[in-house]
Amino acid sequence: MNPELRDQAARYVDLLRRHGQRDTWLPTGLVRRLPSSTAPNSPSLSTPRTSSTFSSHRKEDSAPTPKVRPVATPATSTSGTKAERLSTLRTQTLTCQICPHLAKTRTQVVFGVGDPEARLMFVGEAPGADEDEQGEPFVGRAGNLLTKMLTAMELTREQIYIANVLKCRPDMPANTSGNRKPTRHEMEACLPYLRQQISIIAPVVIVALGASAVEGLFGPQKNTISRLRGTWMELDGVPVRPTFHPSYLLHNQDLALKRLVWDDLLAVMERLGLPISKKQQGFFLPTKA
Ligand code: URA
Repeated sequence: MNPELRDQAARYVDLLRRHGQRDTWLPTGLVRRLPSSTAPNSPSLSTPRTSSTFSSHRKEDSAPTPKVRPVATPATSTSGTKAERLSTLRTQTLTCQICPHLAKTRTQVVFGVGDPEARLMFVGEAPGADEDEQGEPFVGRAGNLLTKMLTAMELTREQIYIANVLKCRPDMPANTSGNRKPTRHEMEACLPYLRQQISIIAPVVIVALGASAVEGLFGPQKNTISRLRGTWMELDGVPVRPTFHPSYLLHNQDLALKRLVWDDLLAVMERLGLPISKKQQGFFLPTKA
């Protein structure tokens, strides 16, 4: 099959699946042959259930056709260095108009920053006012804390890659300040860009900062971030460590909370094979009276 047509088919099938269309018209064999790397829109490209595996097939047949919302469909290229491929993707992202309300209100698209060859990637929720102004993720107060966390790991921002689920600042009602959580639809629309970033960078470990990052990457979760942190999740074979968002730590200056995040980061360092000193092991533990 023509590879371009195959990519288009994969993206279309993904789109249908993510909007609840399970019983697609594509022959099972073809779907099996579609490589997941051509379908950055979906957490997995699983083989559709055949009609014989449906327990209530008739009910699904009569369900109203879900409204298909537009999502980003970045072109996927496998040629060039990681830096070149990221740069091409960035150019596509900068002019995105998939969410007209966000395109209208943003100062600029906040693509991501860091080393295209990074082994460690941090994923946040969405740009805030500072990031929207400067065009770089995590440059405000939460960003300063993230930089401190990296320093504690003996890493710099230049050694890792930082991106958000949403590339535009969520719009706010007139005359209001602060930030709002991205909607599910906004995250779904933008996710293909992040998935493509992950696919190009191919990090060894991803840290998902906060509940929205987890939801953006994996869809709605039954468990809260408090339950998910301290565990490993997996996205296309890449281990993902959920942890609390730095903003949460800024609002809750509890040492025990900082230690929980630090425990997650120690687990990440271990996974990356980074050296961990005795001093680092003891960070954010209560001092003995
Ligand atoms: N919070 C995020 O999730 N991302 C940013 O870029 C800044 C703050």
